[in-house]
Amino acid sequence: MTDSAHIVCPACMAINRIPRSRLGDGPKCGKCHEALFVAHPAELTGASFEKTISRNDIPVLVDFWAPWCGPCKMMAPAFEAAAQQLEPRVRLAKLNTENEQAIAGRFGIRSIPTLALFHNGHEIARQPGAMSAGDIVRWTESNLRA
Ligand code: ZN
Repeated sequence: MTDSAHIVCPACMAINRIPRSRLGDGPKCGKCHEALFVAHPAELTGASFEKTISRNDIPVLVDFWAPWCGPCKMMAPAFEAAAQQLEPRVRLAKLNTENEQAIAGRFGIRSIPTLALFHNGHEIARQPGAMSAGDIVRWTESNLRA
């Protein structure tokens, strides 16, 4: 493992190189100067999804959701709370499967909400169904240790 990590800016999609020891120090994007970690899930689109899961050196946890899905709305605050606990070790992001049906189809998302954990572009774990913030954090950490 190198001592720096590539972090994709959730605001402008620029790739930043940040020393791992400084990930928790509120690093800012070198291009748009926004904070790279705002303890808030990044909203992905078709264009930003691929870059976010493949170009980050940190794992990316994606919440596949849709606006019409009641359990998704119920889980949204838990996912926000999990972002506060997991960043900057993990990037949390949301993908609206209604707007981005091609991506949901490619990953075979059959029920929502579904959480999928990616590292270096590969899916390493998936869990359908709503979870509490504590369960999201525990599930993510257990899959990263595996
Ligand atoms: Zn930026």
